[in-house]
Amino acid sequence: MARNFNAAADKLGLDEGLREVLRRPDREVTVAIPVVMDNGKLEVFTGYRVQHNFSRGPCKGGIRYAPDVNLDEVRALSAWMTWKCAVVDVPFGGGKGGVICDPRKLSQGELERITRRYTSGILDILGPDRDVPAPDVNTNEQTMAWLMDTYSMHVRRTTTAVVTGKPIALGGSRGRREATGRGVMFVCREALKKLGMRPENTRVVVQGSGNVGGIGAELMHREGYKIVSISDMYGAIHNEKGLDIPAVMAHLKKNGKLAGFPGAKELTSAAALELPCEVLVPAATENQITSQNAERIQAKLIIEGANGPTTDAADKILEKKGVIVVPDILANAGGVTVSYFEWVQDRMGYFWTEEHVNTSLEQIMVKAFADVDAVANKYKCSMRIAAYILAIDRVSSVYKLRGVFA
Ligand code: GLU
Repeated sequence: MARNFNAAADKLGLDEGLREVLRRPDREVTVAIPVVMDNGKLEVFTGYRVQHNFSRGPCKGGIRYAPDVNLDEVRALSAWMTWKCAVVDVPFGGGKGGVICDPRKLSQGELERITRRYTSGILDILGPDRDVPAPDVNTNEQTMAWLMDTYSMHVRRTTTAVVTGKPIALGGSRGRREATGRGVMFVCREALKKLGMRPENTRVVVQGSGNVGGIGAELMHREGYKIVSISDMYGAIHNEKGLDIPAVMAHLKKNGKLAGFPGAKELTSAAALELPCEVLVPAATENQITSQNAERIQAKLIIEGANGPTTDAADKILEKKGVIVVPDILANAGGVTVSYFEWVQDRMGYFWTEEHVNTSLEQIMVKAFADVDAVANKYKCSMRIAAYILAIDRVSSVYKLRGVFA
């Protein structure tokens, strides 16, 4: 990310002081989370919340639960949120949170106690006008419901706008769950148009089968794309004639894994990235396309459903090969865009139809794609650097307008 930030800042001629402001997170909080486990023993977990920048509005970004969460990762992800919100031009800054834990080994009760204690640990910096969390890796609508309730009980009023990605019954937005996958589909469509390609003749490999990969694959399948491979945390399945994605998702739901899906070959998720295809959608986690495998990637177009799936070194290799990468801060911004709609609806107390949500999302994603594309043409650079230029320009101009509080 530092390479992209610097390249974009150079093109914008940004001075060193402003670069330092934008590089550095505004605030980082680490909390100890003591929890009584189901076996009666007390365990202490660690949680983080990093607020990168609030120049354009309250900090916004997900909370992830994973054994390998660390402050460096959360810090990087919080900055990505600042740039992502600026690319789609929603009035938020960036934040991110994480708790070191393995959700697969925790009961619902333990997860609830971790979530509530983590929330109360970071409560002072949360709020609809301060910092608004959302789901991320291994967190979901239920996590957000607990977070919302804990916050509300402390402030003694029901405050739905303190989180997004909540259950619809609790002030969540229609279309939020599908929003990131839907956004991936919209930007893929825009990129294909640019390349003169059509969905029917497009083979797609999707890495990940969760909220982004799974839903993205389903929506793209419906649009006529041929999804030839999809993976989960255990491995990938492949059928060169195209997979029946609704059947694949039903199989995944029933068995908890993709393996065993009839008529498909099984391979590792890393090997699947190198399969013959036109479009690759890495929608799992960071650092999947690296200097080790970038040379062997066959896709013409990469749509980054995950945050940070491509390393800097891989980026250089892909650029040389002429692969077009639609960067994460544009490609997966559908989620935070509908989070913005959710926050607006909560504050209005008036809820939109799913159709209104989806059309508004489409407008924003199409415009963001066109904005980034225009910057890429103007500066003769990759879409990734263009997205950074657009974002850094938007954030730094607001910073200059506000001036430095002293
Ligand atoms: N966790 C998602 C992301 O990385 C959504 C964040 C949000 O909606 O605030 O973009």
